[in-house]
Amino acid sequence: MTFSTLGLSAPIVKAVAGQGYETPSPIQVRAIPAVLKGRDVMAAAQTGTGKTLVFTLPVLERLSKLAPVQANQVRALVLVPTRELAVQIGESVTTFGRHLHLRSTAVFGGVKINPQMMKLRGGVDVLVATPGRLLDLHSKNAVKFDRLEVLVLDEADRMLNMGFIHDIGKIIALLPNQRQTLMFSATFPDEIRDLARGLLHDPVEISV
Ligand code: AMP
Repeated sequence: MTFSTLGLSAPIVKAVAGQGYETPSPIQVRAIPAVLKGRDVMAAAQTGTGKTLVFTLPVLERLSKLAPVQANQVRALVLVPTRELAVQIGESVTTFGRHLHLRSTAVFGGVKINPQMMKLRGGVDVLVATPGRLLDLHSKNAVKFDRLEVLVLDEADRMLNMGFIHDIGKIIALLPNQRQTLMFSATFPDEIRDLARGLLHDPVEISV
């Protein structure tokens, strides 16, 4: 199995090879084709399984076929529990997005909001965000979700454990109903299952 047999196109495959990744991991093999098809996915996956590329690669590929984003708009939103994860995923998205001429940024609390507002001004294809800071940015009209195509919840169980359920509910209420939703969680307690039931439409379920 190779990244190109999963349905990814040449620029992405080249970028992946450039990072030294030759063989897709088991979750990548199972989930990337489903994400490329536009299906909702619920994946039980720990850090270290290669889950970041499961959403990064096919989402970037899908976005690369759309018209450029307009001011303050976001095409794909990746919600994460911590600043560290936002930075790490933001770097991965930037690395692969560059090859496709896509824009991305990461926003999180604990730092000045103005530079983040500036980065969002021209719109971004992929926004990686922690929930509280995203709501602050939205209240300042720095982000618009009317053209949003994809929502990713990464480490959903950690977001719930950290008390973000209320913020997540508020964010989801701002998003178009017609969208692709991908949810990743290491564990699946009842709260996560309830959240998934409300958010995902006929999801492909994957555990590795
Ligand atoms: P993740 O589970 O997404 O946090 O990824 C764990 C680590 O594995 C990261 O450092 C990735 O860069 C790396 N990685 C992801 N996919 C692959 C792959 N197919 N082959 C080799 N390394 C990978």
